[in-house]
Amino acid sequence: MSASLVDPRLQGRALKRVAFTTDQIRGRVRELGADISAAYPDGDLLVLGLLKGSFILVSDLVREISRPLQVDFLVVSSYGNDMVSSGTVRMVYDAQAVLKGKHILLVEDIVDSGRTLSMVITVLQEREPASIEVCALLDKHLSTFLEHPPRFVGFDAPNEFLVGYGLDHAENFRHLPYIASLQ
Ligand code: 5GP
Ligand code: MG
Repeated sequence: MSASLVDPRLQGRALKRVAFTTDQIRGRVRELGADISAAYPDGDLLVLGLLKGSFILVSDLVREISRPLQVDFLVVSSYGNDMVSSGTVRMVYDAQAVLKGKHILLVEDIVDSGRTLSMVITVLQEREPASIEVCALLDKHLSTFLEHPPRFVGFDAPNEFLVGYGLDHAENFRHLPYIASLQ
């Protein structure tokens, strides 16, 4: 998609390539919504987005899920402005919702080492939810930390640093409607 290389949203920054187009993402999110709707025939469902990276996915995904649900968010900080994992994960903002007895669907932008997810799942399990599953937009399949790999995955991600559709580099590029790798 060469048009993206002159995208005015980029402020002159060069992208290496578009990894997933807007149309590809839209189609896949629709499929994920159908899969998730079918996977939860009953019970209370709480969609719990990990901010900030999941904010666009959560808003698109919940509109494709055809069953009752509630939405809440957590803020977890793991990377700072670096393009490599620092290995430390911090809970910056905790969900207000009661988790006990509910089906929790954690929504994550991208699974890299899996550290973020395993930390969050450990914390949430203490609150006695009925179940915890993960929906990740992207999975790099590098995780050696995950007891429970994501049940719902948008795309297998290349081992490149990706931005757009919620994913940032130093807080930029989250608003790109496609997913691209940085130069
Ligand atoms: P993990 O804890 O699995 O190593 O890393 C997960 C978090 O690291 C993601 O939520 C995301 O914030 C960040 N991350 C990992 N890979 C990428 C990437 O390719 N691009 C961006 N923008 N963030 C990434
Ligand atoms: Mg980030």
